[in-house]
Amino acid sequence: MEVVVSAADLRAAVSASRTARVGFVPTMGALHDGHLSLTARAREESELVCVSIFVNPLQFAPGEDFQRYPRQLERDLGMLAETGVDLVFTPQAAELIPAGASTTVRVDDLTQHLEGASRPGHFDGVTTIVAALLHLVAPWRAYFGEKDFQQLAVVRRMVRDLHFPVEVVGCPIVREPDGLAMSSRNAYLSADERRRALVLSAALAQAAASWTGDAGATRTQLRSTLGAAPGVRLDYAEVVDPETLRPLEGVVDTPAQALVAALVGRTRLIDNIRLERDAVDR
Ligand code: AMP
Repeated sequence: MEVVVSAADLRAAVSASRTARVGFVPTMGALHDGHLSLTARAREESELVCVSIFVNPLQFAPGEDFQRYPRQLERDLGMLAETGVDLVFTPQAAELIPAGASTTVRVDDLTQHLEGASRPGHFDGVTTIVAALLHLVAPWRAYFGEKDFQQLAVVRRMVRDLHFPVEVVGCPIVREPDGLAMSSRNAYLSADERRRALVLSAALAQAAASWTGDAGATRTQLRSTLGAAPGVRLDYAEVVDPETLRPLEGVVDTPAQALVAALVGRTRLIDNIRLERDAVDR
């Protein structure tokens, strides 16, 4: 496994591999089995697997957890070496964001509500850096988790609108045995908060199990369950069209996606689940 820190070395390593089938997994590090599910999928489908580890300052709003976001590069590199990753890009911010950088890649339509409403500028930061990374790595496929459901939709839209020559592959959420969606931010949770956080995945699982197509009733149920959960401050609970991310009203006969965000203590957690009839999600 090769580890590179400069854009020039990254490009050189990719071209030295002489393959057009580069699979790319962008991450912010503090890796867990969710990330490794993406690298495993990339390994199956690609000749060269490249992972980036970059805590992207542009995607954190002022007052968010950029400073304290977990950074554990040595441990991450050990995990990646064991899972057959070929190339790891660990740039400093100045490498990816040149001094005086003044270009923003913005997807308008999908970014104004849900995470976008709660985290102003978040998706601009994501798309600006993901665009730069896709240019540098030039992968044939890039792998993103459905854990960040809205991010996946936004990246897909950017890639479509700007004709990036890459296929975006969405991968299912990896959960802890008790249902909690894996997240680097779970490390912030105290034992007590960790227990309380289970209400997110439990409420979503319940919504999926009882789904009859009534988007309004499911939204109300999610809001009342999460709104009443002790130690949990609900940000949003929505039932949306999985493609447009627009809220669904009334009874629908199409699949839907339920998305939630909540603060558990000081930790902001997100989770989501597919709502479809005759489907067992997990
Ligand atoms: P992050 O390091 O949080 O920016 O995540 C990097 C990638 O891993 C993103 O595409 C995430 O959606 C994905 N990811 C994070 N957690 C999970 C999970 N529990 N299951 C599947 N993918 C995940």
